[in-house]
Amino acid sequence: MNGRACDGCAFWSKALSFDALRFCKKPRIKNVISKNILNADLHCHSIVSDGTLTPEALAERAKLNGVELWALTDHDEVGGQHRATAAAKAQGMRYLTGTEISVTFAGETVHIVGLGFDPDDAALTQGLRDTRGGRRERAMEMSDGLAKVGIQGAYEGALKFVGNPELISRTHFARFLVESGVCKETSEVFRKYLTEGKPGYVPHRWASLKNAVTWITQAHGVAVIAHPARYKFTPNEEYALFTEFKTHGGLAVEVVTGSHTVQEAVKYAETAREHGLAASRGSDFHSPDESRIDLGTLPFLPGELTPVWELLEDRIQ
Ligand SMILES: [Zn+2]
Ligand SMILES: [Zn+2]
Repeated sequence: MNGRACDGCAFWSKALSFDALRFCKKPRIKNVISKNILNADLHCHSIVSDGTLTPEALAERAKLNGVELWALTDHDEVGGQHRATAAAKAQGMRYLTGTEISVTFAGETVHIVGLGFDPDDAALTQGLRDTRGGRRERAMEMSDGLAKVGIQGAYEGALKFVGNPELISRTHFARFLVESGVCKETSEVFRKYLTEGKPGYVPHRWASLKNAVTWITQAHGVAVIAHPARYKFTPNEEYALFTEFKTHGGLAVEVVTGSHTVQEAVKYAETAREHGLAASRGSDFHSPDESRIDLGTLPFLPGELTPVWELLEDRIQ
């Protein structure tokens, strides 16, 4: 190690107030900005899934917050992509197409973000349509579970919050339970009613890891493991997730996200290095009222990692 740092590592060293430079092998070049120092926000949601803003409002907010490269990643849906592409262009902001696919792996729901794919790809759009298919049945079962503990009309109530009824999710139930005064905030709803063992919890079988990664890569995109610290895996299960993901053609992992603490970002920077994966950065912004982290306000990627946008240079619009 040469004791000097590239700009990305220098940022992290400051953010963590300890020597985060020991992995840095890049010599610092004066007046040259590292590729990692880019305000990229490659994970957020609009009314097309469970966000509360339109793609146009998100693009405007991203631009105001200084985002230079943006992706809208609605759950299991690419219906907002043409709007988001146009909105980014209108704001003078670079854009990568995006989605976030729910998969079941080792009994846990894992999210796989896709970036830079062709949004009109037939296999991808059909695969997402099939993934969305089970949501209505699941929502009705959740509503039945809640009715048993005295909360009536939750399905109809949740529907009021859905821009696209095919994408009804736990978040919409949570908003209804806050609106009707059952809970003070959505996190309380999840804790008391919508997680495993609670009355409104219904497991759902999503796409397979192999299918999700294949749909994305065959549509010329890059697959990214979203917010890895959120899953309750044992170290062995997590290792299996990363190795299988790579076997199917996955290339990147979210290191800096709205769901990670600084310590978790450091941990998954190390995991990215171990598995030879590129790193992504995204707020997972859903709503001005609910999201802790706003668009474009996260720390930069650690300097020694390959940013996912380097793999997608020819897919940026
Ligand atoms: Zn997610
Ligand atoms: Zn998300």
